[in-house]
Amino acid sequence: MSETYRNAAEQQSDAQLEISPVFARPGEATSLPKFKMPDGMMSGDTAYQIVHDEAMLDGNSRLNLATFVSTWMDDNAQKIYAETADKNMIDKDEYPATAAIEDRCWRMLADLWNVPDANDTIGTSTVGSSEACMLGGLALKRLWQEKRKEEGKSTEKPNLILSAGVQVVWEKFCNYWDVEARYVPVTEDHLVLDGFELEKYVDENTIGVVAILGQTYTGLYEPVKQISEKLDEIQKDTGLDVKIHVDGASGAMVAPFCQPDLEWDFKVDRVNSISTSGHKYGLVYPGVGWVIWRNKAVCPESLIFHVSYLGGDMPTLALNFSRPGAQVLLQYYQFLRLGREGYRAVQQGSIDVATYLSSEIEKLGPFTLVSRGDTIPVFAWKLKEGKRNWDLYDLADRLRMRGWQVPAYPMPDDMADLVVQRIVVRLGLSRDLAGLLLDAIKEEVDFLENLAAPIPREKPRTNFAH
Ligand SMILES: *Cc1c(COP(=O)(O)O)cnc(C)c1O
Repeated sequence: MSETYRNAAEQQSDAQLEISPVFARPGEATSLPKFKMPDGMMSGDTAYQIVHDEAMLDGNSRLNLATFVSTWMDDNAQKIYAETADKNMIDKDEYPATAAIEDRCWRMLADLWNVPDANDTIGTSTVGSSEACMLGGLALKRLWQEKRKEEGKSTEKPNLILSAGVQVVWEKFCNYWDVEARYVPVTEDHLVLDGFELEKYVDENTIGVVAILGQTYTGLYEPVKQISEKLDEIQKDTGLDVKIHVDGASGAMVAPFCQPDLEWDFKVDRVNSISTSGHKYGLVYPGVGWVIWRNKAVCPESLIFHVSYLGGDMPTLALNFSRPGAQVLLQYYQFLRLGREGYRAVQQGSIDVATYLSSEIEKLGPFTLVSRGDTIPVFAWKLKEGKRNWDLYDLADRLRMRGWQVPAYPMPDDMADLVVQRIVVRLGLSRDLAGLLLDAIKEEVDFLENLAAPIPREKPRTNFAH
């Protein structure tokens, strides 16, 4: 196929190529190889247009209510992004200012999450929560291994306790690092990990418990304090001292501002480490996460590499080597721009839109809310019992035809028979836009309720929701 392009290109003189309109040039006007690198070159303008046009076929990210990840930043942020796209976070020597800003950002988060001693803590930026969770999990594993070795005991069978509703990163963690995942089932009575029957899962090989602040399926918080109290009881009975990693991918950037009385952070003694996605409710474009440890002792020294930095020593721990520095600068921009007051205003605004939407959707009739969007601004609903010619997948399809992405998906394992539909409200979904979304939902529900027969379906569908 590349021949087609070359032949067409050869038929035009350079001068002609220079002046022909973009869409009449070879490249736009011919078919291009999809899976082989082209043999020759093409004009930058044409290549730009081709990439630009194909990207246009993606959905409109602002209408994507499936993702937790930021899809809007202001003009200043766009400017910083463009100015700093070349910065490599690992090059602390070349970019000492960016390195200093990274350090400031995680210290601000450590303070926000109430570390006991600001001078005795460690943290880092990451590519996202996934890398941050991996590091938190690795630290738990290494701590357990070191303790077991000291006691002359086996380190062969580590296990980690988590809700069946965890985000996929924890399945990856257990798989990649040979840790047995002990899933606590999600049930109608225990939609989140709440300490119920935890004693059945904990043993001497338990490296820790993961508590999720903002379960991806429903947006619900796992009660960190309550889980911790259950672990206190377990310790009293068995002597086992089990620590917690809080996966605060979304909630760790919402709770400090909107639920200041909730006890979930380093104020809870058993919390070893906390991770979050800077690119979710940290309000930065994709590519940044954070993880912080309670103190240096709970982040084993054996995981830390020392690089020299302006003649000094810079401890680093990360899975990646090179990665973009721009997102870290954007995070700092948001911290400065918004401050606590601004974050509170933004997140509360999203919670207000979410609770408005959930209460209106509840009123429509066919739905029961699974959550209301008053923790993180994320909520889910299910269909009431009864015979009808449609289901939530059909509603998701209808909305998608109008550009809105509102996924339907089954709950995890034990509850997989239950299909829910979810909306993630983020900065950028204004109350006004939400009103228009609601109109669309009403119209489509009306349409579906009036169907004379079910919509034919080739195979059961699942949507990627987390
Ligand atoms: C999004 C999410 C993750 C993964 O985070 P990324 O930043 O996408 O890598 C992990 N845990 C929870 C609870 C999440 O919501």
